[in-house]
Amino acid sequence: MTDKNDILFARAQKTTPGGVNSPVRAFRSVGGTPRFITRAQGPYFWDAEDQRYIDYIGSWGPAIVGHAHPEVISAVQAAAARGLSFGAPTEGEIEMAEEICKLVPGIEQVRLVSSGTEATMSALRLARGATKRDKIIKFEGCYHGHADSLLVKAGSGLLTFGNPTSAGVPEDFSKHTLVLDYNNSQQLEEVFASIGDQIACIIVEPVAGNMNLIRATQEFIDTMRKLCTAHGSILIFDEVMCGFRVGLHGAQALYGVQADLTCLGKVIGGGLPVAAFGGRADLMGHMAPLGGVYQAGTLSGNPVAVAAGMTTLKIIQQPGFYENLTAQTRKLVDGLSAAAKAAGVTFCADAVGGMFGLYFASEVPGSYAAMMASDKDRFNRFFHLMLDQGVYLAPSAFEAGFVSAQHDDTIIAETIAAAEKAFAQL
Ligand SMILES: *Cc1c(COP(=O)(O)O)cnc(C)c1O
Repeated sequence: MTDKNDILFARAQKTTPGGVNSPVRAFRSVGGTPRFITRAQGPYFWDAEDQRYIDYIGSWGPAIVGHAHPEVISAVQAAAARGLSFGAPTEGEIEMAEEICKLVPGIEQVRLVSSGTEATMSALRLARGATKRDKIIKFEGCYHGHADSLLVKAGSGLLTFGNPTSAGVPEDFSKHTLVLDYNNSQQLEEVFASIGDQIACIIVEPVAGNMNLIRATQEFIDTMRKLCTAHGSILIFDEVMCGFRVGLHGAQALYGVQADLTCLGKVIGGGLPVAAFGGRADLMGHMAPLGGVYQAGTLSGNPVAVAAGMTTLKIIQQPGFYENLTAQTRKLVDGLSAAAKAAGVTFCADAVGGMFGLYFASEVPGSYAAMMASDKDRFNRFFHLMLDQGVYLAPSAFEAGFVSAQHDDTIIAETIAAAEKAFAQL
């Protein structure tokens, strides 16, 4: 064993379960050895062998301005030099909150936290506290972090509450979670007709990025909004991934619908741990210290993390930022689709803003079941053929991909050239 990635992986597994600090990094789905990253710049990162990759995960979304952007790095360095954490409020947190309230429709007040999991967990608690109801609705294939009541899969029938998908989650928790099919408005209508007055909230990824990329239909979004309003339930948009990815004002602007609560993360930290949940001021007024819903965090609104996040939010507001990001991502998926077609491979792709999905299927899936029916083995072979040519895609057929502002025409063309070779070998 001489490859430095292999050596590091063997060493990592001795002290860390599976050798990684978050499961998908382990390459279990695609097989092989995970690459240990030593540095990143712009659209690239390098592994322990100093092999360079064009990066299409961008830290799973945050690296939207490209890695190690000089303005972000200098803001972080300057903030760090002023002290790392105070456990007392700072002006930077106000600026960040003002920026988020300005940019995201539906957010009048916001609380900063340190991870997307914390944001969704807190939003659920708030929805339950404000409505005094326990039951929640989520959709199969949407991921909302790893809070207990969200690690739940569908029960056996429409009105049966869910079963835990993780060991260690008591059934007493999962029994309050109803798991329905994404993009199925009919099912949602039926559930609300029978138990609407018991539903605290719906939590949804309005553009889903955790079962590959799947867009909600306008009808599905409108139905959720209508039913929540009619039944006094809270509509929570989990925009941890799609917020500031599908466009400057997130999925709510895309669909022209406001959520009651919105969860953010990933891009808003620019690569450091910042996430947030916010929404209607009357709802946010239930949060401690004003109201009875408790939530807190030692490192919430951390000054160094906020410096990275604020600088990133400034850069993405430069004129043409999203037009360019959207155009580059579109060029990528169109080029990949054409390359697959030329090679006679059953494949299609979709993109929204700077997020994309690749599917070894004849049409773009609209549900978890449709996504699961795609050809996973073919994806896995494609993944390794691309990796061998220095293109790093998400190491799972069921994850979305991400483009940064630094993925210029040359990078996209190189990627498509690699894909032409890969498709020919499938
Ligand atoms: C990543 C993600 C989360 C969890 O965020 P973490 O920061 O990993 O805890 C929640 N919801 C969605 C939609 C995500 O993509």
